[in-house]
Amino acid sequence: MIKSWEKMINKNRILKLFLDLVKIDSPSLKEKNVSKYLCALMEERGYEIKQDSAGDACGGNTGNVYVRIPATGDGEPIGFSAHMDCVYPCCGVVPVIKDGIVYSSGDTVLGGDDKAGLATMIEAVQHLKEENIPHPDIYLMFSICEESGMHGAKNMDLSLFPVKEVVVLDSGGAVSTIVIEAPSKAGINITFIGKSAHAGIAPESGISAIQIAAEAVSHMKLMRIDKKTTANLGRIEGGGATNIVTDKVMLSAEVRSSNDQTLQDLIDHMKQCCAEAATKFGGDYNFEYEISYPALHVDKNSPLLARAEQSCKNIGLEPKRVSTGGGSDSNILYGKGYSALTLGIGMSKVHTLEEFIEIKSLTNCAELVADMMKS
Ligand SMILES: [Zn+2]
Repeated sequence: MIKSWEKMINKNRILKLFLDLVKIDSPSLKEKNVSKYLCALMEERGYEIKQDSAGDACGGNTGNVYVRIPATGDGEPIGFSAHMDCVYPCCGVVPVIKDGIVYSSGDTVLGGDDKAGLATMIEAVQHLKEENIPHPDIYLMFSICEESGMHGAKNMDLSLFPVKEVVVLDSGGAVSTIVIEAPSKAGINITFIGKSAHAGIAPESGISAIQIAAEAVSHMKLMRIDKKTTANLGRIEGGGATNIVTDKVMLSAEVRSSNDQTLQDLIDHMKQCCAEAATKFGGDYNFEYEISYPALHVDKNSPLLARAEQSCKNIGLEPKRVSTGGGSDSNILYGKGYSALTLGIGMSKVHTLEEFIEIKSLTNCAELVADMMKS
């Protein structure tokens, strides 16, 4: 039996759009050519397009793009978002199709993250139009700089995205995966301060910053803390010649948790380890941290979650709720007060040269998104 949706989803058109998009270079901060392509396409289709100045705020060459699809039916306005930037190496992508799967030629990422998200929402809109399916006001956001710290979403112009609910198309996992929890992340920079002295003649008058750092780190709870919490040290550097007692060591770290209290407790614990180590050796330390983005929690009773799950069922897929260890624009949108969730769009092995996506995932995802868009 041919599902009615299958007749509607234009496989060739979505594939062409997807391939066109992955072939346009768009590393973070340099999304202008993708933005130009998408604006031209949506303009040609008669939609109202706006851009904000988020690019100016983060040093990018273009801003976030917002497209309004005017209502043809009832319902509250709904937003959809995907990001235009890709992680390196992402320039000169040559897509290769084998057995219904799109890969890169092997020396770049594919950039399905997140061009699959862009292609599916644009195709979904086109379907609704062609099939005269009523829908409320739909707003699309094509964001910049997600990969390098969600700077597009952080600097977005809220007045250009007047919706309460946003579906972010930017997760791995099969189509029908719904991300309902994503952790907050804090970046930490620590400086351990000792006192330099000649290591051979007068080590007694020196304080080794390396010893302070080692003492502190040896007491830190790290790596997998609990199901929702992780901590990792990224880089340690300091010191010089062996005949000098090292007076300064720098250490960078991150902690993630989908529980805000656990996150704060862990940061406090790490700071305490530094304080105790500095005291033990008579040195000092400086501990700075910044919460990069808030945690995402989708309420179990959220109407948007119910809608996503119903739409999965409508197209014959069983919805699956998941928690993830990574953040996305959803976290930022949620932090700004939107009801947001992220959908799995079928992209696999993202951020690697083996990245791929099945063409079937593109059409399934467009089906799902179109179903969520309708009145
Ligand atoms: Zn992404």
